[in-house]
Amino acid sequence: EQESDYAAGSLKKIREILIPRQKYDHKGSFGHALLIAGSYGKAGACILAAKAALRSGLGLLTVHCPQKCVEVLQTSVPEAMVLPDEMGTKFFTKPHQTDQYDALGAGPGLSTETAAKEAMNILFAQHPSPMVLDADALNIISQSPHLLAAIPSGSILTPHPKEFERLAGKSENQFERLQNLQALAVEHQVVCLIKGANTAIGFPDGKIIFNPTGNPGMATAGSGDVLTGIITALFAQGYASSEAAMIGVFVHGLAGDLAAKEIGQTSLIASDIIEKLPQAFQRLY
Ligand code: AMP
Ligand code: MG
Repeated sequence: EQESDYAAGSLKKIREILIPRQKYDHKGSFGHALLIAGSYGKAGACILAAKAALRSGLGLLTVHCPQKCVEVLQTSVPEAMVLPDEMGTKFFTKPHQTDQYDALGAGPGLSTETAAKEAMNILFAQHPSPMVLDADALNIISQSPHLLAAIPSGSILTPHPKEFERLAGKSENQFERLQNLQALAVEHQVVCLIKGANTAIGFPDGKIIFNPTGNPGMATAGSGDVLTGIITALFAQGYASSEAAMIGVFVHGLAGDLAAKEIGQTSLIASDIIEKLPQAFQRLY
C-alpha cells in the first residue's frame, strides 16, 4: 500500500516535467546523442544502449564504436548512425569531435584496456560539458583519481553497487553507502545512482530519492546498458540531469515490470526491457 503510494507520487512528479511533442516538432527538436560504447566481444552492450536510446524519444543517434562492432551495429540498429573508431579495431582509442551533440553517453562495453583509458583522458580534456557515464567509463575513472576530479558537473553517473564502491570506496552497511552517495554527488556536483532494487538517486544538493519500479528479473546481462541508452536519450531531449536520471530509472523499471508481468522474471532478458519501453512511455504520458 505504502509502496504503491510512493510509486504514484513518483509518477505524478514525472508527469509534471514531461515535455509533450508538438505538431511542428522535427527530429532536431528531440536531440542528437552520441553514444561511445562497445569493444570486440561486447558489441551487444552498444547495441542494447543504442536501441534503448532510440526507443526513448531521441531524434538522432550516433554511435562511436570500434571498427569490429560497426557491421553488427548497423545491421541490428539501422536507425543509428555509426562513427567507427579511427584506429581501434577492437577498442575505443580516440574520441571523435564531440561538441556538436546534445548529449554524450559513454561506457557500456567499453573495456578498461590501456587504449580505452587513454581515450577517456582525451575525452575529458576535450569535452567539459555534462555527460552520462556508466560501466567501464566509471571503472576507468575509478582507476584514475584525476579523472574523478575532472568529471564535468551536471554529469549523470550510473554505477551498480560494485562500480559504486570502486568509485566511492567500500562501505560497511547500506547507510554508509548512502552517505558515500550523498558525499560524491555533492562534492562533484553530479547526479549519481546506485542501481538495484529501489535504485537510489543522489542529487548535487545532497538529496537522495529511491525508485519504486523494477523487479529482480532485471538482474540480468545488459540491463544496465539499456538504462544508459534511456538516460542519454532523455538528456539529449533537454531534460535536466536530475530529471533525465529520475525519469530514466523509473521508465526502465516500469518496462521491466511490464516484461515480467508477461513472461515472468526468470526468462527476462535485457532486450525484453527495450521491447516494453513503448508501453512504459505510453503509461507516463
Ligand atoms: P547492470 O548491473 O549495469 O547491468 O545494471 C542492472 C540493472 O538492473 C539496473 O538498472 C538495476 O537497477 C536493475 N536491477 C538489478 N537487480 C535488480 C533488482 N533486484 N530489482 C530491481 N532492479 C534490479
Ligand atoms: Mg552495467
